[in-house]
Amino acid sequence: MELPELGARSYYSGWVGRAVAKRAGRFYYVSHPALQSVEVYRASTRQASIRRAQRAGSYERIPGLQVVEEVGRGRRVRWTESDGRLREGHANELTAAQRMRMFVRGEDGLEPAMVWLTETGMPMAYRSWTKTFERASDRCAAAGVRLYATPKMLRHSVAWFIYRQPGGRIALGLQYGHVGRTLAAAYGGRTKQDMLKVLDFERQLALADTLAEASDRLADGEGVSGPAAERYIDAAHEFDARYAGGFATRAQLRALMNNPRLQVYEDPDALLTCNHDPYKALCDPQRGRSTALRTPSFDRCHAACANISRTDTHIERAHQEVERLRGEIADGLNPAPLAKRLNQRVETLETIIHQHQNTRRIPRQAQP
Ligand code: SF4
Repeated sequence: MELPELGARSYYSGWVGRAVAKRAGRFYYVSHPALQSVEVYRASTRQASIRRAQRAGSYERIPGLQVVEEVGRGRRVRWTESDGRLREGHANELTAAQRMRMFVRGEDGLEPAMVWLTETGMPMAYRSWTKTFERASDRCAAAGVRLYATPKMLRHSVAWFIYRQPGGRIALGLQYGHVGRTLAAAYGGRTKQDMLKVLDFERQLALADTLAEASDRLADGEGVSGPAAERYIDAAHEFDARYAGGFATRAQLRALMNNPRLQVYEDPDALLTCNHDPYKALCDPQRGRSTALRTPSFDRCHAACANISRTDTHIERAHQEVERLRGEIADGLNPAPLAKRLNQRVETLETIIHQHQNTRRIPRQAQP
């Protein structure tokens, strides 16, 4: 009910219902080939597992089963309860547990309304994806393939993921045939223009995610340190106040992107948040000029930059990294120059940890 219909477009937008999103309902975007793959799955593997479950009579044994009768205008859903009562509600309000019990009438009997099923044909609980990814990563490791993924890593498209890596703009340039937006626009190919649009959406979604995560961290009582700690806290509060009910439209996402107070960037591997103020960005030699970059360059990040803030989450990661490095140093297998570099890294991380512990502050509303 929330999967776009396959057509002839390059990209499609769909909607994640409020009750199953982390904080609020939101758009998602899917490319034509990705949606095509889902259709192939529906027609093949999924269908086979449904047949197996139907033959085994598994669906009839599900307690509290609900049969969807209609998905009407505005995504209002009508369904029949197991006691025969007809109910109606908005797709936004259907929880994950309720969706697991929802079925539709297919040619050969009832079929789950949810797309992703287990091999036994039962709706897959969203938390099970973590295990699925773990097993896939283990299989890659066993086969000698250096590939590791978690569901969280897939929140943004590969393109935006590449873009945010050190040297990512160059990598994207090689991948898509352009290096910067101006150059790329000059190429003028439809595919590349679509790609840039998607990149812009992904940047907006990534920003919204980072702010939502910041707000979650502060609500959990995390402490914040660093020269930009105040701006990080203010940005999370402003995001909460403006978008707590959900940011839904592209215009709202664009407004988010253009709000100078909400330019908060997180690199999953970095031990800092960049609260990007282009006038203070030490990574940008053009800062203060009209040609200054509007986004951070993590590959040139400078430890003395006034845009840096850190939370307890970053420091937890720093602790883990110190432990890992100490283990590597202790095994004595590295040549002396490399061991020296590892020791320097440990010292840097320990300085960061001590600075955080000595200066961290907990935002007012998170205190008991
Ligand atoms: S130097 Fe680092 S913290 Fe400062 S603006 Fe650049 S990426 Fe952000």
